[in-house]
Amino acid sequence: MTLSLGLVGLPNSGKSTLFNALTRLRVPVASYPFTTIEPHVGVVPVPDQRLQHIAEIVRPQRVVPTVIEFVDIAGLVRGSSKGEGLGNQFLSHIRNVNAVAVVVRCFSDADVPHIYNTIDPVRDAKVISTELCLADLAMLERRMERIHRAAKSGDKQFIKALDLLGQFQIYLDAGRSLRSFPFDVRSAELAQSLDLTVGLLTTKPILYVANVDEERFAAAVNGPYEALPDIQALKELSEREGVPMVVVSAKIEAELNELPEDEAKDYLAAMGVYQSGLQRLVEVSYKLLGLVTFFTTTGGKEVHAWTVAAGMKAPQAAGQVHSDMERGFIRAEVVSYRDLAQAGSFAAAREHALIRLEGHNYIVQDGDIIHFRFSV
Ligand code: GDP
Repeated sequence: MTLSLGLVGLPNSGKSTLFNALTRLRVPVASYPFTTIEPHVGVVPVPDQRLQHIAEIVRPQRVVPTVIEFVDIAGLVRGSSKGEGLGNQFLSHIRNVNAVAVVVRCFSDADVPHIYNTIDPVRDAKVISTELCLADLAMLERRMERIHRAAKSGDKQFIKALDLLGQFQIYLDAGRSLRSFPFDVRSAELAQSLDLTVGLLTTKPILYVANVDEERFAAAVNGPYEALPDIQALKELSEREGVPMVVVSAKIEAELNELPEDEAKDYLAAMGVYQSGLQRLVEVSYKLLGLVTFFTTTGGKEVHAWTVAAGMKAPQAAGQVHSDMERGFIRAEVVSYRDLAQAGSFAAAREHALIRLEGHNYIVQDGDIIHFRFSV
């Protein structure tokens, strides 16, 4: 699968700058609202040192990284769900991504006006949450009308569904996102069987992306935040809500992309930072969505990284590579990246019995290097 991450943010949060830096695409950047009218999509290779290292061991003709898709989703402002600004065209774009990165402005710059005049990351994050809650409430209203009609038949399932939708409403009215709704087994089953939560925005996993000043970047990445009260406040909000937070500097991320890879690394390291914003975003998003990466080597011809959901069994993982491999799956030869790296070669790994034969029920682990055996 390809992880698709939607970027949302209030105007002048630095969202376009970050999107450009991450994808090196050129969408208009300007210090006025609504520079980004249409959603923009950029597909970016996922940086993974393991992939490079495996390639050094295998020396294949081709190296194929897994990719992440960034979608720049246009102007969310207070009142968007009621048609302010660009209106609610953002809804469908959000529905189509796997997770939403909420870019929150934490930088001050007198030349870049803030739509609400002051720098207040927690307020901005809440404005966005509120808009998403309001959009869900509007959708719930329509959904309740539909279920209400069905409930007239007296079918108990629909009556229960109506009650559950009512609980969603109360929850959202209190400004809370449905991703933390306390489902029990029965209500989860009911919601699932009647598609009660399908398309609701606040069920979508989110992460906060704190876009900080260049001067405060290293301190904000490494913490602690005592001297950075606004970042500290956003961190506390993220912990209360169970939403991860990633610190970036859109400006620095943009500068990094002007540099060759080695220099970019040195530039970051000189600040005491050891991963790019892209790396940190990928890491946190994979964790948030429960994704893992495995590798194939195609008999030494091609080293290829693949993204799958954690918990996936070997035959389904084989199906990501080719549907024939899933249908005709026999066994998987598996070596973990750590074991291969330690052994230094496949031959040495084999000698030390580090390559395992796994069957249909094997659950693919992050970093596995797999050779699928299958029949056609
Ligand atoms: P958007 O409306 O959220 O897409 O914001 P843009 O990316 O268009 O940025 C608006 C303005 O803020 C531009 O002039 C950017 O150069 C500036 N900007 C974006 N990120 C940063 C940052 O991290 N630091 C500073 N100082 N300025 C930034």
